[in-house]
Amino acid sequence: MVLDNLGSSLRGTMDKLRGKSRLDEDDVQEIVKEIQRSLLQADVEVDLVMDLSSNIEERALNEEPPGGTSARDHILKIVYEEMVEVVGDSTEIPLEPQTIMLAGLQGSGKTTTAAKIAWWFSKKGLRPAVIQTDTFRPGSYQQAKQMAGNAEVQFYGDPDAEDPVKIARDGLEATEDADVHIVDTAGRHALETELIDEIEEIEREVNPDRNLLVLDAAIGQGAKEQAREFDDAIGIDGVTITKLDGTAKGGGALTAVNETDSSIAFLGTGETVQDIERFEPDGFISRLLGMGDLKQLSERVERAMAETGEEDDDWEPEDMLQGNFTLKDMQRQMDAMNKMGPLDQVMDMIPGMGGGMMDQLPDDAMDVTQDRMRNFEVIMDSMTDEELENPRSIGAKQVQRIARGSGTDEETVQELLQQHKMMDQTLNQFQGMGDGDMQRMMRKMQD
Ligand code: GDP
Repeated sequence: MVLDNLGSSLRGTMDKLRGKSRLDEDDVQEIVKEIQRSLLQADVEVDLVMDLSSNIEERALNEEPPGGTSARDHILKIVYEEMVEVVGDSTEIPLEPQTIMLAGLQGSGKTTTAAKIAWWFSKKGLRPAVIQTDTFRPGSYQQAKQMAGNAEVQFYGDPDAEDPVKIARDGLEATEDADVHIVDTAGRHALETELIDEIEEIEREVNPDRNLLVLDAAIGQGAKEQAREFDDAIGIDGVTITKLDGTAKGGGALTAVNETDSSIAFLGTGETVQDIERFEPDGFISRLLGMGDLKQLSERVERAMAETGEEDDDWEPEDMLQGNFTLKDMQRQMDAMNKMGPLDQVMDMIPGMGGGMMDQLPDDAMDVTQDRMRNFEVIMDSMTDEELENPRSIGAKQVQRIARGSGTDEETVQELLQQHKMMDQTLNQFQGMGDGDMQRMMRKMQD
């Protein structure tokens, strides 16, 4: 994801603040330097980095943390708010008939994005059409037609025509029965007067509801000038960042958003028409800061808890982290996890646990499907309390008895014991992290 780097390096700096209730000047300096370094590495433009970091610095030194807030949470909140300020809300894209025009340099991913956006609208129940006006790049007609075909949306283009304005006009007429029109325009290798003149003319003809600038995530410092020129020519309402699957940068796009006073509309994450996401600022910044998707996580946890209902008063989440993970705990975890969604996704959202942590675990460590869970529950019902508390003491004879009693087979009983062992090992890994976040999360699940 964009600025991945920032997450991990900032997390390291933040971790040093654990246990502190106030930030001193040195702490703030160190954090601000870390943020500057990461943002510059990610190609965010220097002036923007300086503005952002001086705002963070000033607030961190002058604002009084609310009572009970740790220094770490306080600075995270400030950094988060300042980043949100730069990135802004997602560009508003109403689900209604409209015309969207795409602008950008050649190779930025416009043609691909046109088909992706059309696909996105079609999945929302609208009838989109792609109009290809690029007469400059050989092959753009074929490519656009094929991608629109992949997206199963209407398409208009004219490989023999030379006047993009006429193609736009004819295209709008020919696709009259569509309700969303996506107009793709020509790009050039660099900003040229000819390109800008052409796009202004198409814009006058098409009269779009919104203009989206398409930017390659790897664009870097050139973003500012591009954004400025396109904004001056046609007015940019939103940015689509493409190729986020291939780079950890993306800072140029932030610069462009800031320069045009616009926002991010979509993210492109691959070459097929389905590889498009609506931009979500909360999740984006949370991940950027390596904080996990806090908002989403707490919502999911609350929902899961509401559904799970009664809780066991004696349950101490810390016990699990002390190595006392019993089968009863496992049952509780499986229940909660099943209500929250796949565990690897949940883990990704826990502060400090994202960023590939799950990649180090065996794939099926937490893979407990509903069916298996039901089997496991029946098996656990046939166990004694002693066995549930000390699953590692269960021998071959007991396995036989449990299998018979539960009407399953020994293999499934062994599977359950194996699953427990894997989860136990996984939790032991977390134990070594010295991270209060896990305990807090567990307690929250219990509350
Ligand atoms: P245009 O010249 O601006 O119309 O750019 P294209 O749509 O032709 O895209 C240029 C290249 O980038 C093509 O090879 C696309 O397949 C590729 N591309 C576009 N968007 C993405 C994306 O989000 N991820 C990846 N990996 N490739 C992309």
